[in-house]
Amino acid sequence: MNDSHPLLAALSQLLGPAQVLTEPEDLLPYGFDGTAALKQRPLAVVFAATPQEIAGVLNLAREHRVPVVTRGSGTGLSGGSIPVPGALVLCVLRLNRILELDTRNLTLLAETAVITQAIYDAADGVGLFYPPDPGSMKISTIGGNVAENSGGLRGLKYGVTRDYVMGLEVVLADGSICWLGSKCVKDVAGYNLRDLFIGSEGTLGVITKVLLKLLPKPAARQTLLATFAEMEAAAETVSAIIAAKVIPCTLEFLDQKTMRCVEDFAHVGLPREAQALLLIETDGHPAAVADEAALIMELARRHGATEVRRARDAAEAAQLATARRSAFSALARLRPTTILEDATVPRSELARTIRFIGQVAERHRLEIATFGHFGDGNLHPTFLTDERDRDEMHRVEIAMKEIFDFALSVGGTITGEHGVGLAKKAFLQQQLGDASHALLRRVKLALDPERLLNPGKIFD
Ligand SMILES: Cc1cc2nc3c(=O)[nH]c(=O)nc-3n(C[C@H](O)[C@H](O)[C@H](O)COP(=O)(O)OP(=O)(O)OC[C@H]3O[C@@H](n4cnc5c(N)ncnc54)[C@H](O)[C@@H]3O)c2cc1C
Repeated sequence: MNDSHPLLAALSQLLGPAQVLTEPEDLLPYGFDGTAALKQRPLAVVFAATPQEIAGVLNLAREHRVPVVTRGSGTGLSGGSIPVPGALVLCVLRLNRILELDTRNLTLLAETAVITQAIYDAADGVGLFYPPDPGSMKISTIGGNVAENSGGLRGLKYGVTRDYVMGLEVVLADGSICWLGSKCVKDVAGYNLRDLFIGSEGTLGVITKVLLKLLPKPAARQTLLATFAEMEAAAETVSAIIAAKVIPCTLEFLDQKTMRCVEDFAHVGLPREAQALLLIETDGHPAAVADEAALIMELARRHGATEVRRARDAAEAAQLATARRSAFSALARLRPTTILEDATVPRSELARTIRFIGQVAERHRLEIATFGHFGDGNLHPTFLTDERDRDEMHRVEIAMKEIFDFALSVGGTITGEHGVGLAKKAFLQQQLGDASHALLRRVKLALDPERLLNPGKIFD
């Protein structure tokens, strides 16, 4: 019985009984995340409200040799917050305050579970800008974003979460609480340990506070839509835009299946007959934005776009961005199981990779819709399947491996933004090589010698 585990009484004493869940029906929602076909019931779930309580939880877990899986909003797409058998889920959602908005230094200090959208809104309210915008930003936590080094629609021009983290407070496996980084724009004192924790997927420590860099809000924005009868033409347009030394803030791609699905879901007037759609946003000084938008439209037409148009106003631009963010949810309505991958390739290989994904789908009789951050080379081949159908799932596994093999063969990566977690650990060594893979393990063991923190994620 769960309740008989000696750790649980100690946790109740530390946090109060209301902050410790042990009933099977309470544990159920903490046994899975946004990753399809993976689940595991935890031993218990605890809610800590301060770094000191988190240190107390880790000390008790160490004493009782129970693994700890840190969890934010549970939207991860690589199984990072799925418990390992017998694990304690440490849910950090009570650490949810913005602590400081420093308009003189352009920084924001937040507790780990502040929702990404709330960070954006707080900055926006004082004329500042927090660029990383994962599709899940209305629910994901900033700590989860840091732990996965999440990207988003604006990655091409503004980079990913890592580019905005100036400091972190982290609770280590031994219960010590560290501050890493500073408000200084330049700071080279000691090893850059802050960066080690960015993208560490809960395997090295528990992030409790995040100090973020903010930017001045761009004065103007324009959103453009270009449709193509052939996917190659869309890919060539992307290459031409980059070659023309224009870096739009957003350069998103939807294939026909995704486009139709999003249109059925969001009703924003996307063309149903086109083979590919590019959603492009340029931002900055109004004159530069106008010039860039005109050049992008010309390049799209020159490379065979069947239609190119500007969003009528800010409301339509926001509607289009929201529609793009809904791609995963829209596709998830088609079949019982939706497996979204994020193989990423050098941009020059995009057209070839998308063609290859189409061939894989045909060869294995699978339904795969593809969309993604074209400007970053970050694709989301999305398998629309049914986990109850063993034969189909077997074909999905083979197809996925073929796609990863292909991405690696053209100099790509198995994950551009979703992390390795459980879902992709089998492919990591193939990408990194033996020596780098072994180095990762040595770092893990140096910080967490008892393998208490999210064991079995990233590697076995
Ligand atoms: C509809 C949808 C759209 C998405 N779009 C994008 C996208 O555009 N770009 C993108 O990059 N991702 C995207 N994601 C994936 C996901 O939202 C991100 O990975 C996000 O950062 C996870 O945040 P979370 O709070 O849900 O973290 P969780 O899922 O709870 O955790 C993710 C990982 O981080 C660890 N972790 C969480 N909090 C902490 C902490 N405080 N300290 C240490 N470790 C911690 C967990 O152990 C786990 O390994 C999307 C997901 C969905 C469902």
